[in-house]
Amino acid sequence: MNPKNCPCGTGLLYKDCCEPYHLKVKTAATAEALMRSRYSAFVVAHGDYLFETTHLSKRKRNSKADYQKSAKGIKWLKLEIVSAEFDKVEFKAFYLNNKFGTEVLHEKSNFKFENNKWYYVDGQFYP
Ligand SMILES: [Zn+2]
Repeated sequence: MNPKNCPCGTGLLYKDCCEPYHLKVKTAATAEALMRSRYSAFVVAHGDYLFETTHLSKRKRNSKADYQKSAKGIKWLKLEIVSAEFDKVEFKAFYLNNKFGTEVLHEKSNFKFENNKWYYVDGQFYP
């Protein structure tokens, strides 16, 4: 993979895909775009972005530093969008577990559109 390609897997360059969201030049127009940009933010360890795109009601549990730490602690490999609706995105995020090899996080996330921006609210995990 071209290292300049966006980690979210669109095939676009990072600078033409999720980077403008991370730099706050653009805001994600759909829940799926926000989801992709949050995955990329995990890959590039952009804790601020993860914090700011989490819905206000859910931010209390984690600080920006917590997001930064959790993003840095995981080697993310690949994102697969299973299905995307207006305010729900089901995805599989593959990551490397040092002990067990490749593992997958399978989640259906809920998003909320508020003040002209999309926010991540919470998710339901699949075993
Ligand atoms: Zn992207």
